[in-house]
Amino acid sequence: MKFDVVVLGGGSGGYVAGSVLARYGKKVAVVEKEKFGGICVRAGCVPSIFLYDTSFLFTRLGEIGNYKGMSIKVSLGDIFSSRENLIEYLSNAGRELIENAGGTTLLGEAKIKEGKVIVGRKEIEYDKLIIATGSSPSIPKIKGVEDGLTEDQAVNLDRVPENLVVVGGGFAGVEIAQFFARLGSTVTLLTKGKILKWLSEEARKVIKDSLEWDGVSVVENCEPVYQDKRFLKTTCGEFKAEVVYATGRKPNLPEGIDTLSIETNCNGIKVDESMRTTNGKVWAIGDVVDKERKVAHSAMLEGVIASLSILGKDVKVDRSFVPQVVYTDPQVAVVGKLERAVKSSVFPLKASTRAMIHGIREGYVRLGFDSDDKVCYGEVVSQYSEEIINVVTLAIKAKMKAEDLALLPLVHPSLSEGVSNAAKALFNLDVDVFREKHET
Ligand SMILES: Cc1cc2nc3c(=O)[nH]c(=O)nc-3n(C[C@H](O)[C@H](O)[C@H](O)COP(=O)(O)OP(=O)(O)OC[C@H]3O[C@@H](n4cnc5c(N)ncnc54)[C@H](O)[C@@H]3O)c2cc1C
Repeated sequence: MKFDVVVLGGGSGGYVAGSVLARYGKKVAVVEKEKFGGICVRAGCVPSIFLYDTSFLFTRLGEIGNYKGMSIKVSLGDIFSSRENLIEYLSNAGRELIENAGGTTLLGEAKIKEGKVIVGRKEIEYDKLIIATGSSPSIPKIKGVEDGLTEDQAVNLDRVPENLVVVGGGFAGVEIAQFFARLGSTVTLLTKGKILKWLSEEARKVIKDSLEWDGVSVVENCEPVYQDKRFLKTTCGEFKAEVVYATGRKPNLPEGIDTLSIETNCNGIKVDESMRTTNGKVWAIGDVVDKERKVAHSAMLEGVIASLSILGKDVKVDRSFVPQVVYTDPQVAVVGKLERAVKSSVFPLKASTRAMIHGIREGYVRLGFDSDDKVCYGEVVSQYSEEIINVVTLAIKAKMKAEDLALLPLVHPSLSEGVSNAAKALFNLDVDVFREKHET
């Protein structure tokens, strides 16, 4: 069996790379050891955001209806089988899209041996290889940790635990803590330092307040010591609860990778801007790569970049403005580099007509501008910030200046109008915001 390109892993990065290469006429095989779709579909974005949406509707719909003069009663049905159906659909779609493009899919764990890919009894030769094997939960090395659940398992639970301790204050930890609290669990969130340490103080406070509003007890500066079934001893006390460890991830390096002369470190495989490794025949994409912000859209983009690079195009990935969203209520989204900003401006959503119609009372759009007056950073706290941050990402890519953004006719009333209004604040044009009155 010989292919032009073999892709190891059929997740967010792998299915994109396999599909692009097949569409452009390459004989390509994508090997997946579990289910196509990868972590994003099976145990990441999809189940997590599904439960975020569900718990939002469950707890907020009555309140929103009330605000709008309606009476809405919501009860929980079988949300878990609806989640399963969606995962199953998207996983099958991942495999079918590769095949529809003309690629081959193979199920089984891929290992590297003597320059070939081994899947079960099959030996596969290749001209080029893409490693897209993703990442797995990295759990603390404490006694009894195997009695707990990983983040991948937590988002796939088919019940609502009565008492839950979530260890880890990254995006997965806070999302899991909030949606289970909203669905009825008593939740404690323990973090080594502060929650979401990469966010601004202001955004972090909004999330912390919102978690506490939902009944999550947030305990910072605390670490687990040992677990014994449903008992957890920590540096800040003892808990009787089921435990979820959302304590980061480690790259999945396929067996035999050491025979390929590829440079790696504990965060993953080293690549250049075209996703090529230190072995000229091998590319790597997604969570298995040594990089910051390991998110699905970055893995998917890298799948395109690696494929175009293999097709002989001179393309490079730019990681300076990969947006990231925390799916809490409200959502927090950031993009770009705050450290490059020499000035910033804010538009509070309480001044937004669309936010008022929605019933949103908190949140903001903040923009940062560099020394050339170009937008270089965005931070959005709001419902739908996943959509608003995409507007800021476009503006950063287009190197828009503050004045360009301030004079942009964005739809009124809309939440993303807040992007233009934030820029308007720099020119005293943010007329929807009440000015503070000063005594003369
Ligand atoms: C709880 C949680 C929530 C998340 N939420 C978001 C979100 O909202 N937005 C976002 O952008 N990202 C989110 N992520 C991150 C996102 O899921 C990952 O960044 C993304 O899945 C990475 O894609 P990938 O293709 O690199 O790896 P994966 O999607 O992990 O795919 C890798 C695939 O390779 C397979 N594989 C591994 N080893 C082998 C082998 N030897 N042979 C064959 N196959 C192999 C695996 O089974 C897997 O299917 C979340 C992650 C988690 C855990």
